[in-house]
Amino acid sequence: MNADLVIVGSGFFGLTIAERAAALGRRVVVIDRRNHIGGNAYSSADPETGIEVHNYGAHLFHTSNPAVWEYVNRFTEFTNYQHKVYTNHNGVVYPLPVNLGTINQFFQAAYSPGEARALIAEQASEFDSKTAANLEEKAISLIGRPLYEAFIRDYTAKQWQTDPTELAAEIISRLPVRYNYDNRYFSDTWEGLPVDGYTAWIERMADSPNIEVRLDTDFFDESQPVNKTAVVGQVPVVYTGPVDRYFDYSEGELAWRTLDFEREVLPVGDYQGTTVMNYADAIIPYTRIHEFRHFHPERDSYPADKTVIMREFSRFAGRDDEPYYPVNTADDRARLLAYRDLQSGEKDVFFGGRLGTYQYLDMHMAIGSALSMWNNKLSAHLGGE
Ligand code: FAD
Ligand code: UDP
Repeated sequence: MNADLVIVGSGFFGLTIAERAAALGRRVVVIDRRNHIGGNAYSSADPETGIEVHNYGAHLFHTSNPAVWEYVNRFTEFTNYQHKVYTNHNGVVYPLPVNLGTINQFFQAAYSPGEARALIAEQASEFDSKTAANLEEKAISLIGRPLYEAFIRDYTAKQWQTDPTELAAEIISRLPVRYNYDNRYFSDTWEGLPVDGYTAWIERMADSPNIEVRLDTDFFDESQPVNKTAVVGQVPVVYTGPVDRYFDYSEGELAWRTLDFEREVLPVGDYQGTTVMNYADAIIPYTRIHEFRHFHPERDSYPADKTVIMREFSRFAGRDDEPYYPVNTADDRARLLAYRDLQSGEKDVFFGGRLGTYQYLDMHMAIGSALSMWNNKLSAHLGGE
C-alpha cells in the first residue's frame, strides 16, 4: 500500500487529519465501513422531495473557537440559521432550553427575571449545583424539581435508558438555563448550517489527489487489503472507531446508545412549524421529531406541499448497532482507563474522535481536537515542521 498514513473513519475527526496531512504532501488512505464519507454528519437529499435530510439525526454547527471557525470556512459558507427547540409536555408546547418563557408558561405566571430566579432557587435548594453528583441532582439544582420532572426526567430516561442518578452531571450542564426570553439552544459565537449541505462540505475536505477514500471497508475485516493486521506497525494509523472494538473488547464492552430513525414524507407543506420538537413524556415512545425543511428556510427549491419528518428512538447499542452516544457510567469510566493503558502500548496508532476516545464531542470539538492532534503530534511524526 502506497500511503504515509491510514485513517480509520471518515467523520470530521478523520477527515480533518486527512486534509491536513494531504496539504503537507503526505499520501493518505481513509477507510470507512459505511458506504459514504462524513460519519454521522452525513446528509443526503430525500429522493421524493429533494429536502436535505441529516441521515443520522439533526446536526447543528456552532462554535466559539476562532481557529475552528476559520478552518471550517475554508470548505463551506454557513447560513444564519439559529437553532431553537420546543418540547411537548402533556400536550402543551413549551420553549427550550428552560427560560423565562418556559417558567412563566409552566407556572401560568408573569414572573420577572428576579421573581423567577427566586422561585427556582427555592425549588432547587435540595441540591447544591457545585457538589451535585449525577444528572438528577445537577438538573434539580439548576431548575428545581417540578421543571425537572416535567421536562428532563422522562425524556432523559427515554434517551438514556439509565437511571438519571447514574448518569454524569455534565450531560445536563450542556443545556443553559436563562432568566430572559432568549430561547436560542446554543450560546456560541458562531452558528449556522453549511449553505450547500453537509456532504458538499465533507467532500471538499476529502478532495485532494493525496487522499484515497475506500468505502465499505471494515478495519477488522482481514479480507480487505487495508486492515488492522496488515497495517498496524507498518504505517501510522489514526483510529476513530470504537476504542473497545480495537482491543477486541478485552477490558469489557463500553456502553453506547444507538438511535433508530423512522422517516416519513407527509403531504403537507409544514408539519410542526419548527425543526425539532421534543416529546418530554414517557408515554410517547420517541424522543423527538425532526422536520428537515425548516433547517433551510432560504431554499426555494423545496416543494410547498410535501415535508419530510423523522422520529428519533433511542436504545442501548448491541455490537452490531452504530454506537452514537457514550453512556459513561462509573463502570464505563473504569474500563476506559484500562483501554487507555492498552493504547499506550500501540506506539504508532493515534486514537481520536467521538468513538476512539469514548467522549461526547460536537462537530467543532471533533475538528478542534483533530487540529490539536495534527499540530501537536502528527505533523512532526510525519516529518512536517
Ligand atoms: P463519526 O462521525 O462517528 O465518524 C466515525 C467513522 O468511523 C464513521 O463513519 C464509522 O463508520 C467509521 N468506523 C467506525 N468503525 C470502523 C471500522 N471498524 N472500520 C472502518 N470505519 C469505521 N455535533 C454537533 O456539533 N451538532 C449537532 O447538532 C450534533 N448532533 C448529533 C446528533 C447525533 C444523533 C449524533 C450521533 C451526533 C451528533 N453530533 C453533533 C456529533 C457529530 O456527529 C460528531 O461530533 C462528529 O461526527 C464526530 O466525528 P467523528 O469523526 O469523531 O465520528
Ligand atoms: N434533555 C432533556 N429534555 C429535553 C432535552 C434534553 O432531559 O427536552 C437532557 C437529556 O438528558 C439530554 C441532555 O439534556 O441527553 C442534553 O441535551 P441535548 O439536546 O444536548 O442532547 P442531544 O441533542 O445531544 O441528544
